[in-house]
This record gives sequence, structure tokens and C-alpha cells, in this order.
Amino acid sequence: MSNSVVPAVPDLSVIVPVFNESAGLAALFARLGAVLDGLNLKSEIICIDDGSRDATWDALKAARATDARIKLVRLSRNFGKDVALTAGLRRAAGRAIVMMDADLQHPPELIPEFVARWREGLDMVYAVRTTRNADTFVRRWASRAFYRVFRHLTDIRMPPGAGDFRLVDRRVADVLRDMPERARFMKGLYAWVGFRHGGVPFDPPERTTGKTSFSPLRLLRFAVDALASFSTVPLVASGYIGLILAVPSLALSIFFIVRTLAYGVDVPGYASVIVAVLLLGSIQLLTLGLFGAYLGRVFEEVKGRPLFVESDTAGFSDDRAPTPRDV
Ligand code: UDP
Ligand code: MG
Repeated sequence: MSNSVVPAVPDLSVIVPVFNESAGLAALFARLGAVLDGLNLKSEIICIDDGSRDATWDALKAARATDARIKLVRLSRNFGKDVALTAGLRRAAGRAIVMMDADLQHPPELIPEFVARWREGLDMVYAVRTTRNADTFVRRWASRAFYRVFRHLTDIRMPPGAGDFRLVDRRVADVLRDMPERARFMKGLYAWVGFRHGGVPFDPPERTTGKTSFSPLRLLRFAVDALASFSTVPLVASGYIGLILAVPSLALSIFFIVRTLAYGVDVPGYASVIVAVLLLGSIQLLTLGLFGAYLGRVFEEVKGRPLFVESDTAGFSDDRAPTPRDV
């Protein structure tokens, strides 16, 4: 794989977000390199080091020294996988762009099939999991619940079992890259852009080295974020709940006022009062929380910060490197 020349305009870009994966990178480049060799396409491998805290960056630089197709971007801190993918899309020059994980849970051997389907005319080809044996039971269950809720609350149709492992055509990549929003739930964005798409079945293997970066808490945050960026139904739903509860509350209030006026102060009734207070209080809090969630998004978007920051790159015409300190 070392004798390949760097093409000016590659046919195929492979974007790999990398976070603390130093142990598995050699195996990744060996397999990915072999697959690309067999493809006979001018290709580039763009690795986005998403603020790794282990030896990932050094391992990436070492890999680039032996394979000129490898280009590197290092983000200044951990921005999360979806932002890392977007950083890759900004750099990818290929006519077709593949996105895949670094941990070999996305077997590179599937790429030729992606390319074949792309040549047949598909704009987006994704790997569809036939099993989820590599995931824990809780994660499988939570994922199913999330996609069910998502389906009901939005009109975005995400193909079941499809993940981030996919090939997109240049024009799809351009749209994805230019999406202005900051909350980047990529699976939702893929479905949002449309175009002609199709799936290739695969059975995801377990991670061979390292461990997953997605804790249950991070996945929950991710789910709330994804729902809030694609659906305003929860905002409206809280209004309906308030409306439904307002009618009996009002009736009950009138009843109590009339009764007090007619029969004087009545010491019992404490129970109904406390129930009403607690019930309405909790509904109000819930609604407030929802408002907070959306207001928070508006705040995030309005701030207009850059989505990510590249600290070092290698292999591009406008490479970024640390300023020389030899003064
Ligand atoms: N990743 C990343 N930034 C992060 C977390 C993960 O770039 O903050 C990368 C990671 O290196 C891997 C891919 O995203 O290439 C998928 O991550 P992981 O395997 O931890 O997720 P899982 O397979 O458990 O969903
Ligand atoms: Mg993984």
C-alpha cells in the first residue's frame, strides 16, 4: 500500500473519525489499505482525530508516513463523532465519500459493494445491521425505543438498522457539509437530505481493541438532542396536557369557591388542595423543562460559534501546523 501516489483530485474519500483508538489503527489501515488497493480508484483516507487523549495522533502520523493516501486533521479537543464527521466532509474532495468507524466494527471489505451500488446510480449506500449481537441488551432495547419515538414524532424516515457506515455521493456530501445547524444528529440529517438510497446488509463484529465512547448517559443526551432538533411535537404536546388539565382544574376551582361561599370555611379539603398543587406544579415544571430545552437550542444556534477547530492537518494544500517556536 506504500507505493500509491497522492492524486490531485481523488475519486474516493474515506472519512474516519478517531477518538482514543491508537491500539487498533494499524489493523484498520492494513485492512482498509488492502481494500482500496483492490478498488483501482484514486483514493484518500481522511482521519479526524477528535481530541484523543492517548497516542492516536502519533500513530496517525506514523501511518501517514507509510501511506500517502492518509490525510490527517486533528481537532483541538473532543467535539463528538458527528462533528468529527462534518470536519471530514469539509476536507473530503472525492466524487464519492465513505464514512466509517475506526474500530473495525465497520468492515472495510464492504466498501467495494458500496462503490458498485453508487456506480449503479445510488446517491447514498448504507450498511444495514442484520444483527445487533455486538451491543448489550439494554442498548439494543433503548435504541429500539428511541427510533420508535423518533418515527412517531417526526416525519424523518430513518432506514432501520442503518448507521453511520455509508457512502455518499459528492452532491449529498455537499448538502450535509453545508447544513448550518450545530446539533448534528447525522443519522437524522442523512434521512433529511433525501436522494436515491439503498442498503447493504452486514453483521457488525465486536470491537477488537479499545472500548466504546458512548456511555448510557451520553446516548440519552444524544437521544434528547436528536429529538429536539427534529421535532417540535413535545413542545406542542405539553400545551395539550396543560389544556386538558386546565378544564377539570377550572371546574374544580369553581366548585370549591362556590361551596366555600355557600357553606363557609371547611377544614377538610386539605387533601384535594395538596393534590391539585402537586399535580399542577409538576406539570408546570415539565413544561418549563421543555421550554428550557428548546430555548437552549436557540441559544446554541444564535451564538454562531464555529462548529469545530482544526489544530493540525497534514496532506492538504493549506495545512495547519503549530507556529515555529525557534525565536
Ligand atoms: N468517536 C469520535 N469521537 C467521539 C467518540 C467516538 O470520533 O467522541 C469515533 C470512534 O473513534 C469510532 C467511532 O467514532 O471510530 C464510533 O465510536 P464507538 O466505537 O465508541 O461507538 P459505538 O460503536 O459503540 O457506537
Ligand atoms: Mg464501535
